[in-house]
Amino acid sequence: MAVELQSKSAFETAQKRFDSAADVVGLADDTRRVLREPKRELTVHFPVRHDDGSVHVYTGYRVQHNISRGPAKGGLRYSRGLTLDTVKALAMLMTWKCAVVGIPYGGAKGGVAVDPNALSTAELEHLTRRYATEIAVLIGPEKDIPAPDLGTTPQVMAWIMDTISMHSGHSVTASVTGKPVDVGGSEGRLEASGRGITYLTLEALKYLHVEDETPTVAVQGFGHVGASTVRLLHEAGLRIVAVGDSRGAVYNPKGLDLQALHEHRRFRGTVAGFKKAEDVSRAELLELPVTVLVPAAVEQQIHEHNASRIQARLITEAANAAVTPEADALLNEKGIFVLPDILANSGGVVVSYFEWVQDLQAFFWEEEEINTKLHHVITRAFYEVLHTSVNKRVDLRTAAYALAVQRVANASVVRGIYP
Ligand code: NAD
Repeated sequence: MAVELQSKSAFETAQKRFDSAADVVGLADDTRRVLREPKRELTVHFPVRHDDGSVHVYTGYRVQHNISRGPAKGGLRYSRGLTLDTVKALAMLMTWKCAVVGIPYGGAKGGVAVDPNALSTAELEHLTRRYATEIAVLIGPEKDIPAPDLGTTPQVMAWIMDTISMHSGHSVTASVTGKPVDVGGSEGRLEASGRGITYLTLEALKYLHVEDETPTVAVQGFGHVGASTVRLLHEAGLRIVAVGDSRGAVYNPKGLDLQALHEHRRFRGTVAGFKKAEDVSRAELLELPVTVLVPAAVEQQIHEHNASRIQARLITEAANAAVTPEADALLNEKGIFVLPDILANSGGVVVSYFEWVQDLQAFFWEEEEINTKLHHVITRAFYEVLHTSVNKRVDLRTAAYALAVQRVANASVVRGIYP
């Protein structure tokens, strides 16, 4: 099945979703043709000397999909099988994500085809600095601002910021976001994606009048996004009953002992084998009888072959493109409420925007102020998407895309075509 899923082009899927939204808003053909393609695609091949003296050549990408509403913005992914096709799809997604929450950015994405866990810290630093140098022609505070994504960390962002700064001869802190607070990062950025997911999940449960006394949650992925989502949903009073990662998943209907689970993961490197819960397969985790399912790992996890078995009342799509278009149709039929990725995981880019603004002003805000502003932006976007969904009689994803596509189209049309 994996082969079948991978054979589908991620970019074609992204274009398909765009086409549906363009139909809903009645987009003119000219504008549609422009927005269907990325503005710039850069592929780089570069050498890195490993600790043992051997030289390895890596392939990296940076794609800018659109910059009509502001500088390009989007994460960097370090992942072994990364392809240009995936990066193009994710860059397009970033354009819609920034537009749907109303922040003044276009969309971009980048990364390197590498397994970061297979490298030493020194090798990772060399790879990052060389990759940053290769894409330096595109990035910068006014042009394109990278951030962390799958497989990259605040440390990686600090190396990129330092590399750009060395080239410039002065500190350019606004050149990336998701940096450590010590070098111009923002309070609240580390957990911003999880916090946004939490705010939206709570808002959706309120809207759905979910009667469960304590809503239950299953989270796929226990990394940067998954782990903070687990913590924050638990703090909000929800019961976390299942958590999974790339090596397995665990389930306890009474609720997981999260502190013990963290300890276990620290020693074993995975949640699998946690004694105070039942081991379930990665696939089973998605099909558990829970109120909320949060896929927070990789793309194409809920597809036409398992969508009909999903029991959750609400899916908060934390990972980009975790639900395929075919699965969307099946989930809609079942009446499952899906908070789509471009809205669900936008907390990260919203606080990245706050970080960039703070860096440009060299004036930093308290975490409480950040969280309050995040709550405002994301709740406003939730209700705007909801209204669009009701007015246009479309599902939430199509509504989110329609809203975003209309905003980007407005900017593109009013700017006109150069020359
Ligand atoms: P991460 O690398 O920190 O964590 C990924 C987690 O997913 C790990 O626990 C890993 O074991 C697990 N995983 C990987 N493959 C899996 C599989 N096949 N089945 C089950 N689990 C698997 O990555 P992250 O930063 O948490 O990103 C997760 C998702 O959230 C990605 O889709 C990313 O694009 C999206 N996202 C991240 C951010 C951010 O700020 N980091 C922001 C928005 C969206």
